[in-house]
Amino acid sequence: MDCIFCKIAKKEIPANIIYEDDKVLAFHDINPQAPFHILVIPKKHISTLLELTEDDKDLIGHIYLVINKLAKDLGFADRGYRVVVNCKEEAGQTVFHIHFHILAGREMGWPPG
Ligand code: AMP
Ligand code: ZN
Repeated sequence: MDCIFCKIAKKEIPANIIYEDDKVLAFHDINPQAPFHILVIPKKHISTLLELTEDDKDLIGHIYLVINKLAKDLGFADRGYRVVVNCKEEAGQTVFHIHFHILAGREMGWPPG
């Protein structure tokens, strides 16, 4: 399958990886939109949020716990951070393997663009 994030998960292409376990991988976004811009992905290929099933409930909970751990370890838990998942084209999804953007280190605007 020609999926860039599957290739990163399999170490077929490089990424600046900051966390890994058996289920997920976290790495720095190649085009950061904030002082901290990290992507957390499941190693399993899931194209969009709409493809989630009952079997993925633990995985999604796990991803949020990893996000909290990264926020504490990297030092932005106290100030706060934003988690964004874009679902399909109109929301701005460009890579069709689900990924949780963690953005931190600056004041965030609302509503998002
Ligand atoms: P989205 O637009 O929500 O699908 O987000 C895709 C994100 O993946 C963007 O923020 C890109 O900068 C990022 N991205 C694309 N290719 C890579 C890569 N090879 N390594 C790290 N981040 C990437
Ligand atoms: Zn994939």
